[in-house]
Amino acid sequence: MSAKFYVIKKSKLFIGLMILLIAATTILGSSMIRVKSADIEKPKGYIAIIIDDFGNNGKGTNTMMNLGIPITAAIMPFLDSSVKDAETAKEKGLEIMLHMPMEPISGKPSWLGPGAIKCAMTDQEIQLNINDALDQLKWAVGMNNHMGSKVCQDRRTMEAILLTAKSRGIYFVDSKTAEKSVIEEVAKELDVPYFIRDVFLDSTKNQKEVEVQLMTLANIALRKGYAIGIGHVGPEGGEITAKAIKKMYPKISEKGVKFVFVSDIFDIVDQMKSDGK
Ligand SMILES: [Zn+2]
Repeated sequence: MSAKFYVIKKSKLFIGLMILLIAATTILGSSMIRVKSADIEKPKGYIAIIIDDFGNNGKGTNTMMNLGIPITAAIMPFLDSSVKDAETAKEKGLEIMLHMPMEPISGKPSWLGPGAIKCAMTDQEIQLNINDALDQLKWAVGMNNHMGSKVCQDRRTMEAILLTAKSRGIYFVDSKTAEKSVIEEVAKELDVPYFIRDVFLDSTKNQKEVEVQLMTLANIALRKGYAIGIGHVGPEGGEITAKAIKKMYPKISEKGVKFVFVSDIFDIVDQMKSDGK
């Protein structure tokens, strides 16, 4: 092999290597950019789904816990499965809320469950019941009302409830079982973090209706930035609601709506405010 040929061959090899290197960098670079832009692509809206009535061994409990979708589990206190459900929810990485029974205008007292808040109670009794419930469900970062159409319209009772929530550092979600609820007004006055439920998802035997409600929730989120829906385990929803959520999850995600926990929505609203929206 002549020296000249050797040099040419060597330089060709060098050029070849350079081309390969440039090509590799370009391909790698563009795929990295793709990953990065997908990462930072902001959702167009956020939904938080609260599932009420855990703690009662209701239909769909197991399916709901194992959806692998962020749902906020609202658990009733002092029932046979209260602690068990809270432990399972914790293990599955779900957010936990206290689903506190509160006196309704009408309805059977037996629907209320133990430890319920009634308008005839003193502030101290109310405080005691909520604190006991929160001691049992110690992972709870928020609370909402189970029933409660009477309590939610009673200013003195709601003040006692919301002050207790404040003292425990938890948020409150008005399930909106009463048209004239004073929760928003009182929560603002007392500076308690709160949200109002946007959509009830179930209380039907028809899965299709739950799917429609889920899409309504997603559309509110696209318009408002976020939305909060409430579904149930037990006779008001259960397996039907779980199946509907599972089916609609990819469809709603495709629309750019992200499933989050209720506590995440507080940060999202703060961000929206600082973005001037
Ligand atoms: Zn309930």
